[in-house]
Amino acid sequence: MARIAVVTGGSRGIGEAISLALKEAGATVVANYGGNDERARAFTERTGIPAYRWDVGDHQACLDGCARVTAEVGPIDIVVNNAGITRDGTLSRMSYDDWHDVMRINLGGCFNMAKATFGGMVERGWGRIVNIGSINGQAGQYGQVNYAAAKSGIHGFTKALAQEGAKKGVTVNAIAPGYIDTDMVAAVPAPVLEKIVAKIPVGRLGHAQEIARGVAFLCSEDAGFVTGSTMSINGGQHMY
Ligand code: NDP
Repeated sequence: MARIAVVTGGSRGIGEAISLALKEAGATVVANYGGNDERARAFTERTGIPAYRWDVGDHQACLDGCARVTAEVGPIDIVVNNAGITRDGTLSRMSYDDWHDVMRINLGGCFNMAKATFGGMVERGWGRIVNIGSINGQAGQYGQVNYAAAKSGIHGFTKALAQEGAKKGVTVNAIAPGYIDTDMVAAVPAPVLEKIVAKIPVGRLGHAQEIARGVAFLCSEDAGFVTGSTMSINGGQHMY
């Protein structure tokens, strides 16, 4: 039976690769996005996957967006909480808005999407939630107290919700990517990026498809015994 999947931030970067990997695995996929209509339109033209715009940091928008997907496509079986932003700066330069926006979107988005979909998954006795964390949520990163706190929160959120879903057929897992060659990493200044790559044991940035394959596995029937786990896909960087 084809499952219905929603990938937040699914129209570009890692999210686009996830949308495509789930489609290839046989799911009916809907990509959510935050505001870049042009990229979303091009994505839909290229892939045939519909893109729905709403802000995952807005609780009511998530409830309304998921209700619309359910009405137009069907009940949601799989949620990949991938949407995320950075607002980097050392603590002294970081504004309250920089802190709050990152917490609201990166961590709040997981709560909002779970509130909109977890109950239905439990009722139907099957579901998959995959949350995209980060190596910087595991290890911390200079200039990212907001991002590291939000991503670290995702790992706790995952383990707590996994316990609620475990006996109901709903698994909840996280993937902690290392540095992946997307727009987000392109925004890192070149000298900083050079130093980062030097610390990655495999000696290169990761590719979005390498994260997407991990997500596709965690969303598959075969992964029913995997829950509350964090898969580290980072070229070995977690060892340092
Ligand atoms: P990109 O910046 O390339 O893409 C971000 C996606 O999130 C876009 O589709 C964007 O939509 C969407 N988005 C942003 N804000 C919102 C919002 N409020 N509501 C809905 N959608 C939103 O990011 P990446 O592909 O690089 O990253 C994807 C995820 O992986 C993020 O959670 C990131 O933190 C995480 N990650 C990335 C790493 C990397 O090296 N790239 C490393 C570790 C983790 P729109 O196009 O409309 O702006």
